[in-house]
Amino acid sequence: MIAPNEPRQLVLWDIDHTLLQSRGMGREMYERAIPAAFGQPFRQLADVSGRTELDIIAETLKLHGIEPTDEATSKLVDALIDSYEVGRDEFASRARVLPGAREALTALAAEPTVHQGVLTGNLRAVARIKLVALGLEQFLDLVTSSYGDDHADRAELVAIARERAAQQLDTQFHLDDTVLIGDTPRDVAAALTAGVQVIAVASGRSSVEDLHAAGASKVLADLKDTAGLVQLIKD
Ligand SMILES: [Mg+2]
Repeated sequence: MIAPNEPRQLVLWDIDHTLLQSRGMGREMYERAIPAAFGQPFRQLADVSGRTELDIIAETLKLHGIEPTDEATSKLVDALIDSYEVGRDEFASRARVLPGAREALTALAAEPTVHQGVLTGNLRAVARIKLVALGLEQFLDLVTSSYGDDHADRAELVAIARERAAQQLDTQFHLDDTVLIGDTPRDVAAALTAGVQVIAVASGRSSVEDLHAAGASKVLADLKDTAGLVQLIKD
């Protein structure tokens, strides 16, 4: 028996292009971190869309002629976190919350049956900096969440977040009651691979058609219809 106030659904939000836009700062952080970590100029950033930071870092290191060893990876991780820590205020003034995102988080936070966290490719420390900078962390449980430094494969992040939620809340969420919300075909693929629900939002580079083609049955153009989103999650 589930008590009336016990959370029944675990909603896991992607961050970039779903809740917020960094507006060029993600790339600039690599432009600062590569020289800081390796004393060589920044050349090129790997494609970042929907990928985990560990995945992006491995390819970006190779694009700089650096073997992605554990040592090189952790050097770049540390330099990236430093860049975000130093650039915290700049991020707060340049980044934007996407239309409807704050309202959606607020509405779901008021639903006693819903527990909200993040499932993001961002490093844990960076995710926190981004969310705090825009005042979104208050709606989210950053413990029952998973991050780009937990695993390079996004689909693996689903099990990690679910396990953390089970531990923290002493509740096992059913696969059907776990909902990912994200903006890329990689978010959709992660949900399909892990066997959980997904709501795709076309607020990034992928169109509604792209996201349907990736296998999402529930696709929104944006997060502006708060009541519609809440209904979609509760259905
Ligand atoms: Mg995203």
